[in-house]
Amino acid sequence: MKLRVLPVGLALSLIVGMAMTPEQKVAKTVVDDEVKLTEAVQQEAVQQEAVELEADADLVEDTVGVSESYEEDEEDTSNQTAAHYEKGKRYISHRTIDGREYSLLIDLRKWGNHATENQLLHLRELFYEVYPQMYDRFGAYTNAPLDVVLVIEDRDEGVAGAGGDTVTIVDKHLENSRNDFDVLSHELVHLIQNGWNGKYLEYDYDSEKFAEYCRYIYAYKDGKYNDEHWELPDINAQNTREKSIRFFVWLDMETSSSNRDIIRDYFEICCDKKTETANWNKAWKNLFKGTKFEGKTIDEVWNTYTKTDFARYAAKAPDFNTKSELLQKTDVRNYIKKHSFSQNYEDSLKK
Ligand SMILES: [Zn+2]
Repeated sequence: MKLRVLPVGLALSLIVGMAMTPEQKVAKTVVDDEVKLTEAVQQEAVQQEAVELEADADLVEDTVGVSESYEEDEEDTSNQTAAHYEKGKRYISHRTIDGREYSLLIDLRKWGNHATENQLLHLRELFYEVYPQMYDRFGAYTNAPLDVVLVIEDRDEGVAGAGGDTVTIVDKHLENSRNDFDVLSHELVHLIQNGWNGKYLEYDYDSEKFAEYCRYIYAYKDGKYNDEHWELPDINAQNTREKSIRFFVWLDMETSSSNRDIIRDYFEICCDKKTETANWNKAWKNLFKGTKFEGKTIDEVWNTYTKTDFARYAAKAPDFNTKSELLQKTDVRNYIKKHSFSQNYEDSLKK
């Protein structure tokens, strides 16, 4: 098999689930678990390469199709099995999407059978649906890995972590949250960020904020599972610019156009590591050039946001088949995908 090369700077993964827990105390515990888990992921990513040099005997081509029951499955998948994945093995699949070859290796050597096979199939499908979209817009800029490892690990604490080319999701988290597939979307963003450094971000929390923003926009199956399970916090839950994920979504919607994508430009600034925290007010002024917010400060734009209905609409879907109030009123997810620079650029390449 092809040998994967580990990037020099292992991407620091951060936290999932902060947005859904308003209680600081709970969120803090999650943060600590995540940091520990991320360190473990990074160490294991290094060890794993040595293991792969020796033994490929447990590596299986992952060619199983998507069964009908899996397609129709909408709710708790705990009682359904696809009779495909076996504990102790690794499964590799490959797909070419929009001209790029991606692969996903699902490592089940630490699987405790808490996640169902159906959940694993969903995660595989999510990878090929969500990651290429984020890759086209952001990941190509950072040369993020195209060959990704997903480890399902049986452990008592934590949710998920990411480093290098590897995402680890805690087996029992998948058991406790059967439809939290987009935990993987979030972690994949950390691979795409490829080592953002807090010194060159406006706020330390920006890595997480950006991962959650992407989770919302690029959520699996247009957010079918995400929106029923995870809520994009409103202005009451996140009432500062530092914490607000929804502000990023709004900003993207307000500024995306065929010739301007300031979220993509923001991403480049974070990656380039030239703009230190103290210089971000100026960076935002530059970002706003050529948009409706030209001449305004980031805090003035934030004030505009705080007065909008967008900041207040409910983002949680009542059930799998009903869109959230936010999407019914704004269709923001589709709007951004249609108008952001990457999509138009991709379309122009295909013509
Ligand atoms: Zn994170």
